[in-house]
Amino acid sequence: MKNLIAVGTLAALTAFALAAQAQQQRGQQQGAPPPQGVGAASADPGAGFGPRELTTFKVRDNFYMIRNGQSGNCSVLIADDGVVLSDNKFEMDHDAIMTKLREITDKPVLYVINTHMHGDHSGGNAKNQDLGAKVIAHENARFQMSMTQTKGLPTITLEDHMRLYHGEFILDIYWLGRGHTDGDIVVHLPKQNMIFMGDLFATWDPYVTLIDYPGGGSLREWTRTLDRALALPFTTVIPGHGGATDRAHLETYKAQLTRMQDMVREMNRAKKPREDIQKMLETEFGWSGFVTTLGLDGVIREMQ
Ligand SMILES: [Zn+2]
Repeated sequence: MKNLIAVGTLAALTAFALAAQAQQQRGQQQGAPPPQGVGAASADPGAGFGPRELTTFKVRDNFYMIRNGQSGNCSVLIADDGVVLSDNKFEMDHDAIMTKLREITDKPVLYVINTHMHGDHSGGNAKNQDLGAKVIAHENARFQMSMTQTKGLPTITLEDHMRLYHGEFILDIYWLGRGHTDGDIVVHLPKQNMIFMGDLFATWDPYVTLIDYPGGGSLREWTRTLDRALALPFTTVIPGHGGATDRAHLETYKAQLTRMQDMVREMNRAKKPREDIQKMLETEFGWSGFVTTLGLDGVIREMQ
C-alpha cells in the first residue's frame, strides 16, 4: 500500500507540469484564448497560463508572485525581518527563484509554506532549509512527502488551522478538506482580502482538474472544500497555477467541478462503461495523461 502511494505520488509530481505543457501547446495552436479571470488578472500580463520564463509580478506592496508556466506559483510576502514564500516550485527552479527574489529584497527567507506535497510546489524545500528557512505544511502532505524523500520535509505542520504573524500580514493557514490531494492548505490574508488556494484552484484555460487519488484527492469532497474557502472574506485569489484573479473565477471553477460530479454520477447510474466515462472526461474537461491515470478510477468509484 505504501509503495502504491509512493508510486502514485511520484507520478503526480510531474503531472501538473506535463498537463500544463500540453495545455500551453494547445493554447498556442488555438491562439491562446484569454483566461476567464477578470479584476486583478486583467492588469497582469502573465495572467492565465503564465509566461514561459520565470517572471516577477507585483500584486501589491510587499507582495509579489514569481511565475512561469512550467510549475506552481511562488508567492513572496516581505516583512521587515524577512520573507515568507508560499510554494517554491521544483528543486531545479531554486537558483532562479533566489535570483529573482534578490531583485526585490535582500531579506532572508524565514518560512516556506507548501500548499501541498507535489514537487512543483515543494521542490525547493531542502535548499531553502539549507539557507535557514522553516517549512510549513499540512500533516498529510508531510506524510506523503516522507514516503518518497528524506530531505526537505516540513518541520512545522498543522491539522486544521495555524496563524503566522508576518509584518503587516496575518496568515491564517487552514485545512478545509480534501480535493486535489488530502493535504491541501489555503492561506487566507484577512487584512488584505486575499486567499492563496494552491492546486485546489488552478486556472489555465481550459481548467485542469487533477484529482490525485493516490495522494488522497477526492472529487466528491473538493466542492465542499471550496465552499468552505468561499465562506471566507476575500476579493483577490491566488491560484496554484495562473495569475492573480477574483472570487467569481473561483466560483466558476467550483461550478465546473460540480458539473463533473453530476456527469460522472449520471453515467454511473446509466451503467456506462469505464471507457465512455474516460471519453467524456477527455472531451468535456480536457483530461489526458496523468490526470486520467490518477483520477479516472477514483471518480468512478466515488461518484456512485
Ligand atoms: Zn499539485
